Amino acid sequence: MLLTGLRDPDGREAVRVGENALSYEALAAAAGAVAARVEGASRVAVVAQTRLETVVAVVGALAAGVPIVPINPKAGERELEHILSDSQPDLMLDDVDLSAAGPWPKDEPEDEAPAIIVYTSGTTGPPKGVVLPRRALAANLDALYDAWAWTADDVVAHGLPLFHVHGLILGTLGPLRLGGGAWHLGKFSTAAAAEALRGRATMLFGVPTMYHRAAADLEADPELAAAFGAARLLVSGSAALPAADHERIRAACGQELVERYGMSETLMNTAIRADGERRPGTVGVPLSGVSVRLVDDSGAELDVWDDETVGEIQVRGSNLFLEYLNRPDATAEAFRDGWFATGDVATRSADGYIRIVGRRATDLIKSGGYKIGAGEIENALNEHPAVAESAVTGEPDADLGERIVAWVVVEEGASRPSAEELADHVARLLTPHKRPRDVRYLDALPRNAMGKVTKATLGS
Ligand code: ATP
Ligand code: MG
Repeated sequence: MLLTGLRDPDGREAVRVGENALSYEALAAAAGAVAARVEGASRVAVVAQTRLETVVAVVGALAAGVPIVPINPKAGERELEHILSDSQPDLMLDDVDLSAAGPWPKDEPEDEAPAIIVYTSGTTGPPKGVVLPRRALAANLDALYDAWAWTADDVVAHGLPLFHVHGLILGTLGPLRLGGGAWHLGKFSTAAAAEALRGRATMLFGVPTMYHRAAADLEADPELAAAFGAARLLVSGSAALPAADHERIRAACGQELVERYGMSETLMNTAIRADGERRPGTVGVPLSGVSVRLVDDSGAELDVWDDETVGEIQVRGSNLFLEYLNRPDATAEAFRDGWFATGDVATRSADGYIRIVGRRATDLIKSGGYKIGAGEIENALNEHPAVAESAVTGEPDADLGERIVAWVVVEEGASRPSAEELADHVARLLTPHKRPRDVRYLDALPRNAMGKVTKATLGS
């Protein structure tokens, strides 16, 4: 059963978006009305604006057992057309009456029934529709409750979009399955997050760009820092958190962020546990019910635990999706004997901590006979006081195979460091062969809705 938290709804606050909130009773009633409305549909698209109506629509469709396709309300014509023609919903919900009431459907669909078709962030290509069964949502949320000692007393605050896994499944269904609280900030700001944490919120979920901004705000304002310091857990995910930001937040408020690693296809794979060692730059250990292995270029399993050898992450477990919608080719290509090939490459320490190096396609640079992870160089660059953020790519090079290129955004108010200074900085912190051969300066890095750097657009 997926929506266990809504079985006996009472007057406690279930979900808040900005100033507006619904109790469990009100949510169950309004969602019951949606369930009656969508019953019999084969698929329903939900225009996922950041408001209570979206949560009611999602919960109602899930209660009715109708698969949901969440849609970015700001999707441009081409993206919208791609998602709608791919998913063929027979109903589109954006007008939901919060005061309507209907009975909670008696029967839940079976565990393998599709719950949500979520489109990937489109970081590496056109977004693919990932068909997630109810079983994956339930099992993965249970694994997170376990990892983070997350209970019905917790209230999760976040400012994430409601059309991807992070904000919708972790940040919203996570608390609601449990009977806890989901608090959407409306729009993320450090001040809004601090206010929630001073109130009922106990956990904050965010992406690295939010924590990067928060780091500067906490350093400037001790009251904001005190609020963050009082959180039970600050969680980062969706992209790599620079170790420098982890350290700045710790220094400013005393909290060490926990990082988790996942994707649309698998939900969460690994996390730093609430009671585990916080090791900056790592995404922790496999969640319960999830098996993780590393494989080499030929697909052979690597039995190495040395924090150095790089391999592709493959996962197996109750967290996996069913298929890519209408893409049997991509689905077949992604699975190897039941293992899902994530396309992410990582190392693993003797005690099982995974360190993501980046994506096999864009972040693994083969230069001068070495395999070099972009993330490591980005982390080093970000530690330079004049660097606000950076992205590292490989470009074809007649001599080296690939040449390391650094794209750098200079910290506001700082003067631009020379390419040579940055290359020396990297060589000093890492090794000489990891020095960028080229440094290009940008006003901002290109990012998608999840705040992920779209490296494919760099240089083109
Ligand atoms: P597409 O598949 O369309 O190219 P995408 O992979 O960005 O887009 P998502 O499923 O939303 O779409 O994102 C999953 C990816 O995000 C992972 O494969 C991984 O590369 C990255 N990621 C998630 N969490 C972390 C993390 N903690 N550290 C580093 N990378 C992360
Ligand atoms: Mg992906």
